Amino acid sequence: MKYTEVKNFINGKFIDTNNRKMDVCSPLTGQVISTVPLSTSNDVNMAVEAAWNAFPNWSGLTSKKRSEVLYRYRSIVEKNKESIASLIHNEHGKTMNEAKAEVEKSIELTEFACSIPQITAGEILKVSDGVVCQTNYVPLGVVASICPFNFPHMVPHWTIPNIIALGNCVILKSSEQVPLTACKIAEMFKEAGLPDGVLNIVNGDKEIVEAICDHPEIKAISFVGSTEVAQIVYRRATNNLKRCLTLGGAKNHLLVFPDANLEMTAADICASFTGTAGQRCMAASVMVAVGDVSHIIKKLCEETGKVIPGLNLGPIISIESRQNIINYIDEAEKRGAKILVDGRKTRIDDNCDKNGYYIGPTIIDYPDPKIKMPQHEVFGPVFEIVHANDMNEAIKLENESPYGNAASAFTQKGGIASEVTQRVSAGMTGVNIGVPVPREPFSFGGWNDSKFGAGDLTGKGGIEFWTQLKKITTKWEKQEKTNWMS
Ligand code: NAD
Repeated sequence: MKYTEVKNFINGKFIDTNNRKMDVCSPLTGQVISTVPLSTSNDVNMAVEAAWNAFPNWSGLTSKKRSEVLYRYRSIVEKNKESIASLIHNEHGKTMNEAKAEVEKSIELTEFACSIPQITAGEILKVSDGVVCQTNYVPLGVVASICPFNFPHMVPHWTIPNIIALGNCVILKSSEQVPLTACKIAEMFKEAGLPDGVLNIVNGDKEIVEAICDHPEIKAISFVGSTEVAQIVYRRATNNLKRCLTLGGAKNHLLVFPDANLEMTAADICASFTGTAGQRCMAASVMVAVGDVSHIIKKLCEETGKVIPGLNLGPIISIESRQNIINYIDEAEKRGAKILVDGRKTRIDDNCDKNGYYIGPTIIDYPDPKIKMPQHEVFGPVFEIVHANDMNEAIKLENESPYGNAASAFTQKGGIASEVTQRVSAGMTGVNIGVPVPREPFSFGGWNDSKFGAGDLTGKGGIEFWTQLKKITTKWEKQEKTNWMS
């Protein structure tokens, strides 16, 4: 095997378990590169115990002291960018350039957490004569973060740096499809001087997620993954009276108007739907073509022709997922949709392993409104086009999607852009942006079936989610003119 077997990381050590093991396959080759344990509630119990043991000392440090660990960690990640990217590339399949960009985003997320001492200073106000009110952000205790496969490094960095900078201890559950990168994260935090027990990693699938949802000593859970599982986890965790925020799937609509900048629109949309082989929740999924935008569609097809599987397009995470994507395209074709670019037929680059789970980028057009586009997420390099006569019709189509992660307008008219961003039913919107991810300190989070629970996961939203506010009201002397509020 290319890599040693994955182990759980508990109380600062990688530990053996007698659990069942699952193969980890590289989508680049189809070869087994490691194994991952499918842990049980016993492993969760051990991790939670280690985390609670570490909590008093860790939460007792000043936030400046905690952020010193994160500064050191940031430098270690920066120094090892290439090797982390190579690991991501091998276990996930995304291109080296995409993997490096992912690590750079993790660095940005860590930098935000480094600034937590500045942004969590709390508030203080004299509320009446001699009486002062003050708020402090207080950590919750031991919390958990459950991750998907598509960003093995970045999604854990949506949560871990903020969680620990705020004084909590954490149980991370990485995706069993990409468990190796998380081990690297643990090693690097250890090297940065993070005390044992503050970060613990348990590996596994459904069983371990259920154990996390049921553990009475885990105070809050974040989840990122498909809508189906996001709903299961949200229901189970909140039924156990936990604070919970679950981010789900997406089908992001881009409303494209005839006046949109031709070159920029085609290049941005192509990059958005093919990046990470379409396996990202912010990927462009659907163009709502408003009026005649045939010139833009033509240019988009030309751009898409430059995307070659194995060269600048990574594989799909598993054979099953690739087959689902092929089935989706087959089905659309059978129902009468036009396949403008057919990824089932794209040649694969000569230099890559032909056993990799590749599929080319695909564009499906539904010119006849009687042929309905399915509403569910594809999660592959597939872009669909539906048509609207005007802006209102286009917004209605977007609003009908059950999801609500992202939506963008492509136009040169400010009035149209402003109306679209206000009326689409999505949490993250853009103007002439293919991937409208809000960067730190802004918060990440969608709407509708793309998110369950209040607030957002990253940026300032993350600070609220991983803390509780302590309100302290103080008076030192009896006042002359007091009322019932003094
Ligand atoms: P997934 O839902 O299959 O798995 C996510 C996590 O849940 C994994 O850790 C997995 O082990 C666990 N899990 C799987 N089935 C479970 C079950 N029945 N009960 C309990 N836990 C279970 O998602 P995935 O395939 O790893 O990731 C892709 C999905 O994630 C896509 O739908 C994508 O849109 C979504 N995603 C969303 C965001 C966002 O911010 N909204 C970000 C990244 C990915």
